[in-house]
Amino acid sequence: MTARLIDGVSLAASIRADVARRVASLPFRPGLAVVLVGDDPASVSYVRNKDKAAVAAGIDARTVRLPQATDQRTLLDRIETLNADSGIDGILVQLPLPSHIDPSVIVAAVDPAKDVDGFHPINVGLLASGRPGLVPCTPLGVMRLLADANIPIAGARAVVLGRSTIVGRPVAALLLAADATVTIANSRTRDIADECRRADILVAAVGRPELVRGAWIKPGATVIDVGFNRLPDGRLTGDVAFEECAQVAWAITPVPGGVGPMTIACLLENTVTASERRRRA
Ligand code: NAP
Repeated sequence: MTARLIDGVSLAASIRADVARRVASLPFRPGLAVVLVGDDPASVSYVRNKDKAAVAAGIDARTVRLPQATDQRTLLDRIETLNADSGIDGILVQLPLPSHIDPSVIVAAVDPAKDVDGFHPINVGLLASGRPGLVPCTPLGVMRLLADANIPIAGARAVVLGRSTIVGRPVAALLLAADATVTIANSRTRDIADECRRADILVAAVGRPELVRGAWIKPGATVIDVGFNRLPDGRLTGDVAFEECAQVAWAITPVPGGVGPMTIACLLENTVTASERRRRA
């Protein structure tokens, strides 16, 4: 391997420590409510990790657990209650929701000032117009990794693989706001390898194990792998063939230990930011 490793574990730890310091200096305790409907094992584990990290940072974390059969009206009522609760600064509804609930209705019901996931249409619109409100956590984590590794963004050619509302689109919007020239690829892109070869910064968020090969990387590029895929043999892998790409890139994130830990760190940061803005307003 020749590329420099971009270490998300240590950056996430330092962001979490920063958040804890900010919380300790506040005259109030920021409150975070995480709403979980049902008992999908992956979601239960994500929610537990978010709760533990929030508590460790001094945040008043509350998990609202609702049964799988909860109807949309009941969930909306719970969100309304949290919107009105002055002790709650951040609300996160764990996705995916059961299929009988429309996630877009739920996301739009969260008070935009408490929308620490950054998924509310108002926050999406602010980001798209270059005026960030609350920014989605994983994309924010990608930008923090680039900044911490001192990767120049202004003027760089950035290619984002994937256009999901959770990762691809907001990452592209943030890179654009930072003055990169941005290409967003999707499953219909004609020659994805060719697009990648032009990238000074390549962000892969497709959910396809090791799709990105070493021969697709421009020498000296920075590669951020958002992918988090479990192989049939149980191994975890990203969307990037790490060993091959690390031979060509200047800097690269590993999986695990790259983008993954940044998501919760940025959620905590968003919670404190939301609490400071809201209680100052
Ligand atoms: P998603 O909603 O399934 O979106 C995948 C995107 O990739 C879609 O836009 C799709 O294109 C595109 N795509 C799929 N195959 C492609 C191909 N062969 N070439 C080009 N584009 C292709 O996934 P997501 O939620 O964005 O997540 C992406 C990956 O990031 C997953 O591995 C997920 O587990 C991981 N992830 C990690 C974190 C974290 O580390 N904290 C957080 C979120 C997600 P179309 O739009 O044309 O279908």
